[in-house]
Amino acid sequence: MQIGGKAHNPRSGEWLGSLNPATEEVWAMIPRASVEDAEVAAAAAHEALRGAWAKLTPTQRGALMFRLADLLERDAELLAQLDARDNGKPISELRKQYAYLPQHWRYFGGLVDKLEAQVIPVDRNGVFNFTRHEPVGVVLAITPWNSPLVIASWKVAPALAAGCTTIVKPSEHASISTLHFAKLVAEAGFPAGVVNVVTGYGHEVGEALVAHAKVAKVTFTGGEAGGRAVSTLAAKHLKPTVMELGGKSPVIVFDDADLDRAVPTVAVGIFSSSGQSCVAGSRLLLQAGIYDEFLRRLIDRARAIVVGDPLSAETAMGPITTRAQFEMIQSHLFDAHEQGAICAFKGERSSNFPSGGLFLPPHIFTGVTPQMRVWREEVFGPVLAVMRFETEAEAVAIANDSPFGLAAGLWTRDLDRALRLHKELQAGTVWINSYRGVSSMTPLGGFKRSGFGRENGQEAVREFLQTKSVWMEYQ
Ligand code: NAD
Repeated sequence: MQIGGKAHNPRSGEWLGSLNPATEEVWAMIPRASVEDAEVAAAAAHEALRGAWAKLTPTQRGALMFRLADLLERDAELLAQLDARDNGKPISELRKQYAYLPQHWRYFGGLVDKLEAQVIPVDRNGVFNFTRHEPVGVVLAITPWNSPLVIASWKVAPALAAGCTTIVKPSEHASISTLHFAKLVAEAGFPAGVVNVVTGYGHEVGEALVAHAKVAKVTFTGGEAGGRAVSTLAAKHLKPTVMELGGKSPVIVFDDADLDRAVPTVAVGIFSSSGQSCVAGSRLLLQAGIYDEFLRRLIDRARAIVVGDPLSAETAMGPITTRAQFEMIQSHLFDAHEQGAICAFKGERSSNFPSGGLFLPPHIFTGVTPQMRVWREEVFGPVLAVMRFETEAEAVAIANDSPFGLAAGLWTRDLDRALRLHKELQAGTVWINSYRGVSSMTPLGGFKRSGFGRENGQEAVREFLQTKSVWMEYQ
């Protein structure tokens, strides 16, 4: 691990095996941090907050973030290779993610010296009032396994831009790229303790950090159960949180949509990362006039997906990252069949890859009703549920009938309809004639049970600032 600018072994001496999901073999060992390690990390981050990090000017802090961006660019291929082995995401997708990541760091590095405050003309004579934006303190970033370092960067870069120091607790299933990132932070020359990385279980070191008095704010991405545990514990300590949770995002395709664009985008929206994406477009609503043609073309598209070795450039779908998740998806497939959904398509893994591993091909279910589990719950796997609709009002009602509200897709050539409906859809992101676009520059986050607070964009920095009002009287 990396704590206080130094390599740090777990005080317990215990290590955990990290599995390669394509083979189910242990390919790396990660430290199993305990309460004692949490204590050291919190102390290091707290010391840097008022010390070396606070002493740098905003421009100097930004320059360090630019240097880190350059190192991320240098090591992009290595980071892609590490994640492909650690979480099974296809190398083609990882190369794109890591090609973009330096830009993310440059965006937030560029914001550091532009956080202006206000002079407020309060309604008294002889008073000069102004505001200051100050860092909230030590930020704890808890990340999931599906895009470990990208999601860590969504948290750490804006927190550093705000002047906070950070502790990252990556998923126990995919910590390796974040551990390499910690080395790059040291190489870039950040003062000790500004970015600390602590690995291990959520219920052990994760909870110790959430509860720690020196941690001021927690930003969490993960599933609903973990999110509930973290926000409950944080609330007990009156600690604010940002929660990025799951989704069950609807994609609505109207009769007038451009199917040549919609079909491949819908396929990528659900099947990339084997469906292990928080914004996966897992509920497809097709208007009656294009239902049959769309489904036929989508199945052709899904049939062409290469499921196999994540390290092969042709692979579009790698394995499921963990055995528990693999079994969870199987239980969803079982229930979909039991509850009467029709499996309209089931793909196959590619023939050139050896047996074993946690591979699951794409599935498309029709004959789905709103009560079915496959329609209501997040599967977090390559499983698409399809429903037919007739009218615009019906589509919106079905789309919004969900406890989640992370994202929604809308396919239509009718500008009036697009402008009407994006306001109706209860989701933190609405993609019109597109899907899954994410940028450092625009906010991402959930409505309803998909979470609260925002990542990316200038809003992300505000999550880590607190405003001070300063009064001065003069004669
Ligand atoms: P998870 O909730 O199991 O784990 C996420 C992280 O939380 C891990 O680091 C884990 O160790 C930690 N954790 C779990 N319980 C904890 C506890 N009690 N105290 C402290 N830390 C704890 O999630 P996962 O299975 O790794 O990821 C999949 C989930 O993440 C899906 O539901 C997915 O939709 C969601 N997700 C959301 C977004 C988003 O931006 N909204 C992005 C990616 C993934």
